[in-house]
Amino acid sequence: MVVVLKNPAHPAEVRSLVSWLEGMGLDIHVTVGRETTILGLVGDTSMVDIDLIQALDIVEEVKRIQEPYKKANRKFHTEDTVVDVSGVPVGGGHFALIAGPCSVESEEQIIRVAQAVKASGANLLRGGAFKPRTSPYAFQGLGAEGLKLLLEAKKATGLPIVSEIMDLTQLPLFEDVDLLQVGARNMQNFDLLRELGRTQKPVLLKRGLSSTLQELLMSAEYIMAGGNENVILCERGIRTFETYTRNTLDLSAIPSLKALTHLPVIVDPSHATGIARMVPPLALAATAAGTDGLIIEVHNDPPHALCDGPQSITPAQFDEVAAGIRQVLPYAYRYGA
Ligand code: PEP
Ligand code: MN
Repeated sequence: MVVVLKNPAHPAEVRSLVSWLEGMGLDIHVTVGRETTILGLVGDTSMVDIDLIQALDIVEEVKRIQEPYKKANRKFHTEDTVVDVSGVPVGGGHFALIAGPCSVESEEQIIRVAQAVKASGANLLRGGAFKPRTSPYAFQGLGAEGLKLLLEAKKATGLPIVSEIMDLTQLPLFEDVDLLQVGARNMQNFDLLRELGRTQKPVLLKRGLSSTLQELLMSAEYIMAGGNENVILCERGIRTFETYTRNTLDLSAIPSLKALTHLPVIVDPSHATGIARMVPPLALAATAAGTDGLIIEVHNDPPHALCDGPQSITPAQFDEVAAGIRQVLPYAYRYGA
């Protein structure tokens, strides 16, 4: 429920209203804007008498909101959230350009790719160590060894690192990983989400293969409800009837999510299409549509990649995409601007 106060709202009256509402066992989030003050009531509001609140002198309007997500909801938090990934701000006009191979394969490979993408303007390095593969016979990633190699690349380049955590028991291994990716297949692994909520680690939450935006936001809510508000959302393509591309990139998810939530929203054109030549045009389209960042698979030798070679672009191709992104960015759609 949202309570919009009349303008001007006197601080003493606001305080007394807040403590009265808190007395009903609710959490109250106060947002003081330039024009209006808004109270977000979080908790069981079913017992709250709307008419009683509406009748108060300082109240302009009371709305029951439909959305079951509160902490992720832009209604309670009108400003864009900026997530700090070890010194790299993401969201609120700060663009995350994340690049690197699907999987870490060797020290030489990850360091070479890291140096190349950094030189092209990437500000975060990706690399999978634990891989969620459809086939149990496919390369499953180097595991803990992969994380060690990723840390070497971080040391060599200074780029903060992003890697996928598949299970909550892996958490101690991820202590030095700067941004913990929850993959599409794990978007509704609620035990994992709850555990990540108990940390203050930035989390990159990818949209499930057949998840609605509301389901994605409810998963973000799991993390945030535990006290960790450092969540970045990622559109990575969804299952549709189309089979030409690996998935279908839902570009409309960008402006939709920007309106529904204050959390940063980034796009993964690599998994969305599964086809390397489609990565540049969709990276540019997502940039124009207002994404807060991109996560792109880059491999030094795509035909020999152990995972996702067909959708991986080379460092030279990445260099061109990065230049294109810099050209589009000044013209990108900005929510609320
Ligand atoms: C990945 O980023 O390598 C990955 C497996 O992504 P997703 O969970 O979106 O399929
Ligand atoms: Mn991949």
